[in-house]
Amino acid sequence: MFASDPFLFSVLCVWLAVFGACVGSFLNVFLYRFPRRESLSYPPSHCPRCKAAIRWYDNVPVFGWIKLRGKCRSCKLPISIRYPCIEGFCGIVFCGIFVLLDVLFNFSVWPLLALTLFLSLSATVIFAVCCVMYLAFRKRIG
Ligand SMILES: [Zn+2]
Repeated sequence: MFASDPFLFSVLCVWLAVFGACVGSFLNVFLYRFPRRESLSYPPSHCPRCKAAIRWYDNVPVFGWIKLRGKCRSCKLPISIRYPCIEGFCGIVFCGIFVLLDVLFNFSVWPLLALTLFLSLSATVIFAVCCVMYLAFRKRIG
């Protein structure tokens, strides 16, 4: 359905990649704070070492980490590469599953089924891989 309109298809792919990266950013917060029984909303994003607040422009998924070269702006200590990896991965999964479902099943045929498949597949893949990544990185980097 969407593949027949290259402009709309591209816009949706980019939007889903950005949305997926934002989901990944929230997932990073969840994976860090939930095991520590910390609030997911307060305090706002901050460096776990020096506790300095992370500015909104440093908190942009993937690009914030790249811009800071993986170091805290305040204390210069390294920030785990797990953060941009999970954000980028979620963006790729959201975009990739959309492309796959549109090409394979054509959204116009079963839009509700396609949407359900999209959401459940994305959630399953992201949850599984992020849990593995989190466990792997936690042992090595922290
Ligand atoms: Zn810091």
